[in-house]
Amino acid sequence: MSAINVAKFGGTSVANFEAMSRCVTIVENNPQTKLVVISACSGVTNILVELANGVTEQTKREQLLQTLVDIHFSIINQLKHPEKINNEINEILTKISQCAERAVSEPSEQLTDQLVSCGELMSTHILCQLMCEKGHNAQRFDIRTVMKTTSVFGNAEPLLDEISIAVQTHLAPLCKESIVVTQGFIGSDLNNKTTTLGRGGSDYSAALIAEAISASGLEIWTDVPGIYTTDPRIAPQAHPIKEISFAEASEMANFGAKILHPSTLVPALRHKIPVFVGSSKEPQLGGTWVKQEVESAPLFRAVTLRGNQTMITLKSLNMFQASGFLAKVFTILAQHKVSVDLITTSEISVSLTLDHTNTQGGSPKLPPAAQQELEKLCSVVVEHNLSLVALIGNEMGQAKGAAKQIFGTLEDYNLRMICYGASCHNLCFLLHESYARNAVQHLHRELFEG
Ligand code: ADP
Ligand code: ASP
Ligand code: MG
Repeated sequence: MSAINVAKFGGTSVANFEAMSRCVTIVENNPQTKLVVISACSGVTNILVELANGVTEQTKREQLLQTLVDIHFSIINQLKHPEKINNEINEILTKISQCAERAVSEPSEQLTDQLVSCGELMSTHILCQLMCEKGHNAQRFDIRTVMKTTSVFGNAEPLLDEISIAVQTHLAPLCKESIVVTQGFIGSDLNNKTTTLGRGGSDYSAALIAEAISASGLEIWTDVPGIYTTDPRIAPQAHPIKEISFAEASEMANFGAKILHPSTLVPALRHKIPVFVGSSKEPQLGGTWVKQEVESAPLFRAVTLRGNQTMITLKSLNMFQASGFLAKVFTILAQHKVSVDLITTSEISVSLTLDHTNTQGGSPKLPPAAQQELEKLCSVVVEHNLSLVALIGNEMGQAKGAAKQIFGTLEDYNLRMICYGASCHNLCFLLHESYARNAVQHLHRELFEG
Protein backbone atom coordinates (compact mmCIF):
# COMPACT_ATOMS: atom_id res chain seq x y z
CA MET A 1 0.00 0.00 0.00
CA SER A 2 1.39 3.44 -0.94
CA ALA A 3 1.15 6.42 1.39
CA ILE A 4 -0.95 8.25 -1.17
CA ASN A 5 -4.32 9.65 -0.22
CA VAL A 6 -6.86 10.29 -2.99
CA ALA A 7 -9.23 13.24 -2.50
CA LYS A 8 -12.35 13.56 -4.63
CA PHE A 9 -14.33 16.80 -4.85
CA GLY A 10 -17.86 16.79 -6.26
CA GLY A 11 -19.60 19.42 -8.37
CA THR A 12 -20.72 21.74 -5.55
CA SER A 13 -17.23 21.54 -4.02
CA VAL A 14 -15.77 23.08 -7.20
CA ALA A 15 -18.76 25.28 -8.05
CA ASN A 16 -17.02 28.66 -7.77
CA PHE A 17 -13.79 30.37 -6.79
CA GLU A 18 -14.42 30.23 -3.02
CA ALA A 19 -15.39 26.55 -3.19
CA MET A 20 -12.27 25.71 -5.22
CA SER A 21 -10.12 27.64 -2.74
CA ARG A 22 -11.55 25.51 0.08
CA CYS A 23 -10.55 22.38 -1.89
CA VAL A 24 -6.98 23.66 -2.02
CA THR A 25 -6.97 24.14 1.77
CA ILE A 26 -8.32 20.63 2.31
CA VAL A 27 -5.58 19.19 0.09
CA GLU A 28 -2.98 21.25 1.98
CA ASN A 29 -4.21 19.87 5.29
CA ASN A 30 -3.34 16.32 4.35
CA PRO A 31 0.24 16.07 3.07
CA GLN A 32 -0.48 12.53 1.85
CA THR A 33 -2.98 13.82 -0.70
CA LYS A 34 -1.17 13.47 -3.99
CA LEU A 35 -4.11 12.76 -6.24
CA VAL A 36 -7.11 15.03 -6.59
CA VAL A 37 -10.07 13.79 -8.60
CA ILE A 38 -12.79 16.30 -9.41
CA SER A 39 -16.19 16.62 -11.02
CA ALA A 40 -17.39 19.28 -13.40
CA CYS A 41 -18.48 22.56 -11.78
CA SER A 42 -21.99 22.30 -10.35
CA GLY A 43 -24.73 22.34 -13.01
CA VAL A 44 -22.34 21.92 -15.94
CA THR A 45 -22.97 18.23 -16.66
CA ASN A 46 -26.74 18.83 -16.70
CA ILE A 47 -26.31 21.53 -19.35
CA LEU A 48 -24.00 19.31 -21.40
CA VAL A 49 -26.50 16.43 -21.24
CA GLU A 50 -29.23 18.79 -22.43
CA LEU A 51 -27.07 19.89 -25.36
CA ALA A 52 -26.19 16.29 -26.14
CA ASN A 53 -29.87 15.38 -26.32
CA GLY A 54 -30.15 17.89 -29.20
CA VAL A 55 -31.31 21.47 -28.70
CA THR A 56 -32.78 22.41 -32.07
CA GLU A 57 -33.31 26.10 -31.44
CA GLN A 58 -30.08 27.97 -32.06
CA THR A 59 -30.82 30.80 -29.61
CA LYS A 60 -31.50 28.28 -26.85
CA ARG A 61 -28.22 26.51 -27.66
CA GLU A 62 -26.37 29.80 -27.50
CA GLN A 63 -27.99 30.61 -24.16
CA LEU A 64 -26.81 27.31 -22.71
CA LEU A 65 -23.32 27.88 -24.08
CA GLN A 66 -23.28 31.36 -22.56
CA THR A 67 -24.19 29.85 -19.17
CA LEU A 68 -21.20 27.53 -19.49
CA VAL A 69 -18.96 30.49 -20.38
CA ASP A 70 -20.29 32.44 -17.37
CA ILE A 71 -19.81 29.58 -14.89
CA HIS A 72 -16.21 28.98 -15.91
CA PHE A 73 -15.04 32.53 -16.56
CA SER A 74 -16.49 33.80 -13.27
CA ILE A 75 -13.90 31.53 -11.63
CA ILE A 76 -11.10 32.03 -14.16
CA ASN A 77 -11.36 35.81 -13.90
CA GLN A 78 -10.52 35.60 -10.21
CA LEU A 79 -7.27 33.76 -10.90
CA LYS A 80 -4.02 35.72 -10.78
CA HIS A 81 -3.05 34.41 -14.22
CA PRO A 82 -6.18 33.59 -16.18
CA GLU A 83 -4.16 33.86 -19.40
CA LYS A 84 -2.44 30.57 -18.53
CA ILE A 85 -5.60 28.57 -19.16
CA ASN A 86 -7.81 30.86 -21.29
CA ASN A 87 -6.84 29.16 -24.54
CA GLU A 88 -7.45 25.65 -23.25
CA ILE A 89 -10.87 26.58 -21.91
CA ASN A 90 -11.83 28.41 -25.10
CA GLU A 91 -10.81 25.41 -27.19
CA ILE A 92 -13.04 23.13 -25.09
CA LEU A 93 -15.93 25.62 -25.36
CA THR A 94 -15.55 25.66 -29.15
CA LYS A 95 -15.63 21.87 -29.20
CA ILE A 96 -18.81 21.93 -27.07
CA SER A 97 -20.43 24.33 -29.50
CA GLN A 98 -19.55 22.14 -32.50
CA CYS A 99 -20.68 18.92 -30.83
CA ALA A 100 -23.93 20.56 -29.64
CA GLU A 101 -24.72 21.47 -33.25
CA ARG A 102 -23.95 17.95 -34.42
CA ALA A 103 -26.15 16.53 -31.65
CA VAL A 104 -29.18 18.17 -33.29
CA SER A 105 -28.87 16.19 -36.51
CA GLU A 106 -27.01 13.08 -35.40
CA PRO A 107 -27.28 12.53 -31.62
CA SER A 108 -25.54 9.44 -30.30
CA GLU A 109 -24.31 8.01 -27.03
CA GLN A 110 -20.74 8.37 -28.24
CA LEU A 111 -21.26 12.05 -29.01
CA THR A 112 -22.95 12.51 -25.62
CA ASP A 113 -19.84 11.22 -23.89
CA GLN A 114 -17.61 13.51 -25.94
CA LEU A 115 -19.76 16.44 -24.89
CA VAL A 116 -20.30 15.65 -21.22
CA SER A 117 -16.61 14.90 -20.66
CA CYS A 118 -15.91 18.60 -21.36
CA GLY A 119 -17.17 19.61 -17.88
CA GLU A 120 -14.43 17.71 -16.06
CA LEU A 121 -11.86 18.66 -18.71
CA MET A 122 -12.53 22.34 -17.91
CA SER A 123 -12.83 22.18 -14.12
CA THR A 124 -9.47 20.38 -13.82
CA HIS A 125 -7.69 23.12 -15.80
CA ILE A 126 -9.05 25.71 -13.36
CA LEU A 127 -8.38 23.88 -10.09
CA CYS A 128 -4.87 22.94 -11.19
CA GLN A 129 -4.04 26.55 -12.06
CA LEU A 130 -5.44 27.69 -8.69
CA MET A 131 -3.30 25.14 -6.85
CA CYS A 132 -0.21 26.37 -8.68
CA GLU A 133 -1.09 29.97 -7.82
CA LYS A 134 -1.35 28.99 -4.17
CA GLY A 135 2.22 27.76 -4.30
CA HIS A 136 1.76 24.04 -4.95
CA ASN A 137 3.59 21.93 -7.42
CA ALA A 138 0.45 20.71 -9.16
CA GLN A 139 -0.08 19.24 -12.60
CA ARG A 140 -3.18 18.38 -14.56
CA PHE A 141 -3.45 14.85 -15.88
CA ASP A 142 -5.87 13.60 -18.55
CA ILE A 143 -7.36 10.54 -16.86
CA ARG A 144 -8.42 9.09 -20.22
CA THR A 145 -4.81 7.94 -20.61
CA VAL A 146 -5.31 5.41 -17.80
CA MET A 147 -9.06 5.03 -17.14
CA LYS A 148 -9.61 2.35 -19.75
CA THR A 149 -13.18 1.13 -20.13
CA THR A 150 -15.53 -0.88 -22.29
CA SER A 151 -17.14 0.95 -25.21
CA VAL A 152 -20.57 1.14 -23.58
CA PHE A 153 -20.94 4.89 -23.99
CA GLY A 154 -22.81 6.52 -21.11
CA ASN A 155 -22.32 3.61 -18.76
CA ALA A 156 -18.88 2.17 -19.44
CA GLU A 157 -17.33 -0.53 -17.28
CA PRO A 158 -13.72 -0.14 -16.12
CA LEU A 159 -11.13 -2.57 -17.50
CA LEU A 160 -9.30 -3.25 -14.26
CA ASP A 161 -6.13 -4.88 -15.59
CA GLU A 162 -5.57 -2.18 -18.21
CA ILE A 163 -6.22 0.54 -15.62
CA SER A 164 -3.82 -0.99 -13.14
CA ILE A 165 -0.97 -1.22 -15.65
CA ALA A 166 -1.58 2.24 -17.09
CA VAL A 167 -1.82 3.86 -13.64
CA GLN A 168 1.46 2.31 -12.54
CA THR A 169 3.16 3.38 -15.78
CA HIS A 170 1.78 6.86 -16.35
CA LEU A 171 0.21 8.18 -13.14
CA ALA A 172 2.10 6.78 -10.15
CA PRO A 173 5.44 8.40 -11.15
CA LEU A 174 3.75 11.82 -11.41
CA CYS A 175 2.37 11.53 -7.86
CA LYS A 176 5.93 11.26 -6.58
CA GLU A 177 6.89 14.64 -7.98
CA SER A 178 3.70 16.71 -7.66
CA ILE A 179 0.04 16.88 -6.74
CA VAL A 180 -1.94 15.51 -9.65
CA VAL A 181 -5.34 17.04 -10.49
CA THR A 182 -7.47 14.84 -12.70
CA GLN A 183 -11.00 14.19 -13.96
CA GLY A 184 -13.58 11.95 -12.42
CA PHE A 185 -16.43 10.42 -14.47
CA ILE A 186 -14.60 10.11 -17.79
CA GLY A 187 -12.46 7.45 -19.40
CA SER A 188 -11.63 6.06 -22.81
CA ASP A 189 -12.17 2.77 -24.55
CA LEU A 190 -9.49 0.66 -26.23
CA ASN A 191 -9.90 2.76 -29.40
CA ASN A 192 -9.24 5.89 -27.31
CA LYS A 193 -12.83 7.10 -27.71
CA THR A 194 -14.07 9.09 -24.71
CA THR A 195 -16.47 7.22 -22.42
CA THR A 196 -18.24 8.00 -19.12
CA LEU A 197 -19.02 5.89 -16.06
CA GLY A 198 -22.63 7.09 -15.66
CA ARG A 199 -24.03 10.07 -13.74
CA GLY A 200 -22.31 10.67 -10.43
CA GLY A 201 -19.40 8.54 -11.68
CA SER A 202 -16.60 10.69 -10.23
CA ASP A 203 -16.85 8.87 -6.90
CA TYR A 204 -16.33 5.59 -8.75
CA SER A 205 -13.39 7.03 -10.73
CA ALA A 206 -11.71 8.16 -7.52
CA ALA A 207 -12.15 4.72 -5.97
CA LEU A 208 -10.82 2.97 -9.09
CA ILE A 209 -7.76 5.19 -9.15
CA ALA A 210 -7.26 4.73 -5.40
CA GLU A 211 -7.35 0.98 -5.97
CA ALA A 212 -4.95 1.04 -8.93
CA ILE A 213 -2.44 3.16 -7.04
CA SER A 214 -2.92 1.15 -3.80
CA ALA A 215 -3.85 4.31 -1.92
CA SER A 216 -3.88 4.38 1.85
CA GLY A 217 -7.11 6.39 1.94
CA LEU A 218 -9.91 7.84 -0.15
CA GLU A 219 -11.69 11.05 0.80
CA ILE A 220 -15.00 11.95 -0.83
CA TRP A 221 -15.64 15.66 -0.28
CA THR A 222 -19.19 16.76 -0.99
CA ASP A 223 -21.87 19.15 0.28
CA VAL A 224 -22.92 17.26 3.44
CA PRO A 225 -20.77 16.25 6.43
CA GLY A 226 -21.00 12.53 5.87
CA ILE A 227 -23.44 9.76 5.09
CA TYR A 228 -26.77 10.40 6.84
CA THR A 229 -29.47 8.09 8.10
CA THR A 230 -31.39 9.20 5.01
CA ASP A 231 -31.11 11.97 2.44
CA PRO A 232 -31.31 15.14 4.59
CA ARG A 233 -33.20 16.79 1.73
CA ILE A 234 -36.02 14.30 2.30
CA ALA A 235 -35.96 14.14 6.10
CA PRO A 236 -34.42 17.20 7.78
CA GLN A 237 -34.06 15.23 11.02
CA ALA A 238 -31.63 12.80 9.37
CA HIS A 239 -28.26 12.71 11.09
CA PRO A 240 -24.73 11.82 10.00
CA ILE A 241 -23.37 8.35 10.74
CA LYS A 242 -19.87 8.38 12.29
CA GLU A 243 -18.81 4.95 11.15
CA ILE A 244 -20.37 2.44 8.78
CA SER A 245 -19.26 -0.89 7.35
CA PHE A 246 -18.44 -1.35 3.66
CA ALA A 247 -21.34 -3.79 3.42
CA GLU A 248 -23.93 -1.36 4.77
CA ALA A 249 -22.60 1.66 2.87
CA SER A 250 -22.46 -0.36 -0.38
CA GLU A 251 -26.10 -1.30 0.07
CA MET A 252 -26.95 2.36 0.67
CA ALA A 253 -25.10 3.49 -2.44
CA ASN A 254 -26.60 0.70 -4.49
CA PHE A 255 -30.12 1.45 -3.34
CA GLY A 256 -30.05 5.12 -4.21
CA ALA A 257 -28.15 7.15 -1.59
CA LYS A 258 -26.92 9.69 -4.15
CA ILE A 259 -24.01 10.67 -1.92
CA LEU A 260 -22.02 7.77 -3.41
CA HIS A 261 -22.15 6.36 -6.93
CA PRO A 262 -23.45 2.77 -6.55
CA SER A 263 -20.15 1.15 -7.50
CA THR A 264 -17.86 3.42 -5.46
CA LEU A 265 -17.17 1.06 -2.61
CA VAL A 266 -16.46 -2.01 -4.72
CA PRO A 267 -12.81 -1.09 -5.48
CA ALA A 268 -12.32 0.33 -1.97
CA LEU A 269 -13.57 -2.92 -0.45
CA ARG A 270 -11.40 -5.06 -2.76
CA HIS A 271 -8.33 -3.23 -1.49
CA LYS A 272 -9.66 -2.47 2.01
CA ILE A 273 -9.06 1.25 1.52
CA PRO A 274 -10.80 3.24 4.26
CA VAL A 275 -13.15 5.86 2.83
CA PHE A 276 -13.99 9.17 4.44
CA VAL A 277 -17.02 11.23 3.40
CA GLY A 278 -17.16 14.86 4.51
CA SER A 279 -18.28 18.36 3.60
CA SER A 280 -15.79 20.54 1.74
CA LYS A 281 -17.69 23.59 2.97
CA GLU A 282 -17.53 22.57 6.63
CA PRO A 283 -14.66 20.11 6.98
CA GLN A 284 -14.46 20.92 10.70
CA LEU A 285 -17.74 19.04 11.19
CA GLY A 286 -15.99 15.74 10.48
CA GLY A 287 -17.80 13.08 8.52
CA THR A 288 -18.36 9.38 8.02
CA TRP A 289 -15.70 6.68 7.95
CA VAL A 290 -16.52 3.66 5.84
CA LYS A 291 -14.42 0.72 7.03
CA GLN A 292 -14.19 -3.03 7.02
CA GLU A 293 -14.64 -3.37 10.80
CA VAL A 294 -16.92 -1.03 12.74
CA GLU A 295 -17.86 -0.98 16.38
CA SER A 296 -21.64 -1.07 16.09
CA ALA A 297 -24.01 -2.96 13.85
CA PRO A 298 -27.43 -1.46 14.59
CA LEU A 299 -30.59 -3.24 13.51
CA PHE A 300 -31.67 -0.20 11.47
CA ARG A 301 -28.93 1.93 9.89
CA ALA A 302 -30.48 4.07 7.14
CA VAL A 303 -33.27 4.46 4.59
CA THR A 304 -32.66 5.16 0.91
CA LEU A 305 -34.84 6.17 -2.00
CA ARG A 306 -34.23 5.49 -5.67
CA GLY A 307 -36.55 6.94 -8.30
CA ASN A 308 -37.08 6.04 -11.96
CA GLN A 309 -37.82 2.40 -11.41
CA THR A 310 -39.20 0.22 -14.19
CA MET A 311 -41.02 -2.94 -13.15
CA ILE A 312 -41.68 -5.78 -15.57
CA THR A 313 -44.15 -8.50 -14.78
CA LEU A 314 -43.97 -11.68 -16.83
CA LYS A 315 -46.79 -14.17 -16.56
CA SER A 316 -47.36 -17.53 -18.17
CA LEU A 317 -49.23 -20.69 -17.30
CA ASN A 318 -46.32 -22.55 -18.87
CA MET A 319 -44.28 -21.51 -15.87
CA PHE A 320 -46.38 -23.76 -13.64
CA GLN A 321 -44.14 -26.54 -12.35
CA ALA A 322 -41.97 -26.25 -15.46
CA SER A 323 -38.24 -26.10 -15.42
CA GLY A 324 -36.11 -23.76 -17.50
CA PHE A 325 -38.63 -20.94 -17.85
CA LEU A 326 -36.60 -18.43 -15.83
CA ALA A 327 -33.44 -19.51 -17.61
CA LYS A 328 -35.07 -18.57 -20.95
CA VAL A 329 -36.22 -15.22 -19.59
CA PHE A 330 -32.79 -14.33 -18.28
CA THR A 331 -31.08 -15.49 -21.46
CA ILE A 332 -33.22 -13.06 -23.46
CA LEU A 333 -32.54 -10.24 -21.02
CA ALA A 334 -28.82 -10.97 -21.03
CA GLN A 335 -28.71 -11.06 -24.83
CA HIS A 336 -30.20 -7.56 -24.88
CA LYS A 337 -27.82 -6.38 -22.14
CA VAL A 338 -30.71 -5.66 -19.78
CA SER A 339 -29.48 -5.62 -16.22
CA VAL A 340 -31.98 -6.95 -13.70
CA ASP A 341 -32.06 -5.49 -10.25
CA LEU A 342 -34.78 -6.86 -7.97
CA ILE A 343 -36.76 -9.98 -8.56
CA THR A 344 -39.71 -11.75 -6.96
CA THR A 345 -41.47 -14.82 -8.25
CA SER A 346 -44.69 -16.75 -7.81
CA GLU A 347 -45.73 -20.01 -9.41
CA ILE A 348 -46.81 -18.50 -12.73
CA SER A 349 -45.30 -15.05 -12.73
CA VAL A 350 -42.12 -13.18 -12.10
CA SER A 351 -41.65 -9.48 -11.44
CA LEU A 352 -38.37 -7.74 -11.88
CA THR A 353 -37.00 -4.23 -11.94
CA LEU A 354 -34.44 -2.59 -14.18
CA ASP A 355 -32.10 0.08 -13.06
CA HIS A 356 -29.30 2.09 -14.50
CA THR A 357 -27.13 5.09 -13.80
CA ASN A 358 -26.19 5.97 -17.34
CA THR A 359 -25.34 9.45 -18.48
CA GLN A 360 -28.48 10.04 -20.55
CA GLY A 361 -30.76 9.71 -17.50
CA GLY A 362 -34.51 8.91 -17.42
CA SER A 363 -36.17 5.66 -16.42
CA PRO A 364 -34.62 2.50 -17.84
CA LYS A 365 -36.35 1.05 -20.88
CA LEU A 366 -36.95 -2.54 -21.86
CA PRO A 367 -35.57 -2.64 -25.43
CA PRO A 368 -38.48 -3.31 -27.87
CA ALA A 369 -36.63 -6.30 -29.37
CA ALA A 370 -36.29 -7.87 -25.89
CA GLN A 371 -39.98 -7.25 -25.21
CA GLN A 372 -40.95 -8.92 -28.50
CA GLU A 373 -38.88 -11.98 -27.69
CA LEU A 374 -40.29 -12.20 -24.17
CA GLU A 375 -43.81 -11.90 -25.54
CA LYS A 376 -43.25 -15.14 -27.47
CA LEU A 377 -42.85 -16.82 -24.06
CA CYS A 378 -45.33 -15.03 -21.82
CA SER A 379 -47.36 -11.89 -21.22
CA VAL A 380 -45.27 -8.81 -20.48
CA VAL A 381 -46.46 -5.79 -18.48
CA VAL A 382 -44.11 -2.82 -18.11
CA GLU A 383 -44.76 -0.18 -15.44
CA HIS A 384 -42.97 3.11 -14.81
CA ASN A 385 -43.38 5.89 -12.23
CA LEU A 386 -42.22 3.70 -9.41
CA SER A 387 -39.68 4.28 -6.66
CA LEU A 388 -37.64 1.89 -4.60
CA VAL A 389 -37.24 2.38 -0.87
CA ALA A 390 -34.61 0.35 0.98
CA LEU A 391 -34.16 -0.03 4.67
CA ILE A 392 -30.53 -0.80 5.44
CA GLY A 393 -29.51 -2.51 8.65
CA ASN A 394 -28.05 -5.64 10.19
CA GLU A 395 -29.60 -9.07 10.60
CA MET A 396 -33.13 -7.70 10.28
CA GLY A 397 -34.35 -11.18 9.42
CA GLN A 398 -33.14 -12.48 12.81
CA ALA A 399 -34.74 -9.81 14.97
CA LYS A 400 -38.14 -10.76 16.34
CA GLY A 401 -40.69 -8.00 15.81
CA ALA A 402 -38.61 -6.10 13.23
CA ALA A 403 -40.92 -6.96 10.34
CA LYS A 404 -43.97 -5.96 12.40
CA GLN A 405 -42.39 -2.63 13.26
CA ILE A 406 -41.43 -1.93 9.63
CA PHE A 407 -44.64 -3.03 7.97
CA GLY A 408 -46.78 -1.57 10.75
CA THR A 409 -45.26 1.81 9.92
CA LEU A 410 -46.09 1.25 6.27
CA GLU A 411 -49.65 0.01 6.72
CA ASP A 412 -51.15 2.93 4.79
CA TYR A 413 -48.95 2.46 1.75
CA ASN A 414 -49.61 0.28 -1.22
CA LEU A 415 -46.41 -1.76 -1.64
CA ARG A 416 -45.98 -3.16 -5.16
CA MET A 417 -43.08 -5.52 -4.59
CA ILE A 418 -41.08 -6.53 -1.52
CA CYS A 419 -37.61 -8.08 -1.38
CA TYR A 420 -36.51 -9.38 1.96
CA GLY A 421 -34.16 -12.14 2.93
CA ALA A 422 -31.53 -12.34 0.21
CA SER A 423 -29.29 -9.90 2.04
CA CYS A 424 -28.94 -9.59 5.80
CA HIS A 425 -28.43 -5.87 5.28
CA ASN A 426 -31.54 -4.73 3.45
CA LEU A 427 -35.24 -4.91 3.03
CA CYS A 428 -36.60 -3.07 0.03
CA PHE A 429 -39.92 -2.40 -1.58
CA LEU A 430 -41.38 -0.69 -4.60
CA LEU A 431 -44.20 1.82 -4.48
CA HIS A 432 -45.71 4.57 -6.62
CA GLU A 433 -43.36 7.54 -6.89
CA SER A 434 -46.04 9.99 -5.78
CA TYR A 435 -45.89 8.84 -2.17
CA ALA A 436 -42.40 7.36 -1.93
CA ARG A 437 -40.87 10.39 -0.19
CA ASN A 438 -43.68 10.25 2.37
CA ALA A 439 -42.92 6.61 3.04
CA VAL A 440 -39.23 7.41 3.60
CA GLN A 441 -40.11 10.26 5.98
CA HIS A 442 -42.52 8.01 7.83
CA LEU A 443 -40.02 5.17 8.19
CA HIS A 444 -37.28 7.55 9.23
CA ARG A 445 -39.48 9.16 11.88
CA GLU A 446 -40.47 5.80 13.29
CA LEU A 447 -37.11 4.02 13.22
CA PHE A 448 -34.50 6.79 13.56
CA GLU A 449 -36.01 9.74 15.36
CA GLY A 450 -37.35 8.00 18.42
P1 ADP B 1 -21.31 15.54 -5.25
O1 ADP B 1 -21.59 16.52 -6.32
O2 ADP B 1 -20.37 16.04 -4.22
O3 ADP B 1 -20.92 14.20 -5.79
P2 ADP B 1 -24.01 14.61 -4.82
O4 ADP B 1 -25.07 15.63 -5.06
O5 ADP B 1 -23.78 13.60 -5.86
O6 ADP B 1 -22.66 15.38 -4.45
O7 ADP B 1 -24.28 13.85 -3.43
C1 ADP B 1 -24.52 14.60 -2.27
C2 ADP B 1 -26.01 14.64 -2.00
O8 ADP B 1 -26.46 13.31 -1.75
C3 ADP B 1 -26.41 15.37 -0.73
O9 ADP B 1 -26.56 16.76 -0.97
C4 ADP B 1 -27.73 14.71 -0.34
O10 ADP B 1 -28.85 15.43 -0.74
C5 ADP B 1 -27.71 13.40 -1.15
N1 ADP B 1 -27.92 12.22 -0.30
C6 ADP B 1 -28.73 11.19 -0.60
N2 ADP B 1 -28.73 10.28 0.36
C7 ADP B 1 -27.89 10.73 1.31
C8 ADP B 1 -27.47 10.20 2.57
N3 ADP B 1 -27.91 9.04 3.03
N4 ADP B 1 -26.59 10.93 3.28
C9 ADP B 1 -26.12 12.10 2.83
N5 ADP B 1 -26.49 12.64 1.66
C10 ADP B 1 -27.36 11.97 0.90
N1 ASP C 1 -20.11 15.46 -13.45
C1 ASP C 1 -20.72 14.15 -13.44
C2 ASP C 1 -22.20 14.25 -13.07
O1 ASP C 1 -22.69 15.34 -12.80
C3 ASP C 1 -20.02 13.17 -12.57
C4 ASP C 1 -20.03 13.48 -11.09
O2 ASP C 1 -20.27 14.61 -10.70
O3 ASP C 1 -19.76 12.56 -10.30
O4 ASP C 1 -22.87 13.27 -13.08
MG1 MG D 1 -22.09 12.69 -6.67
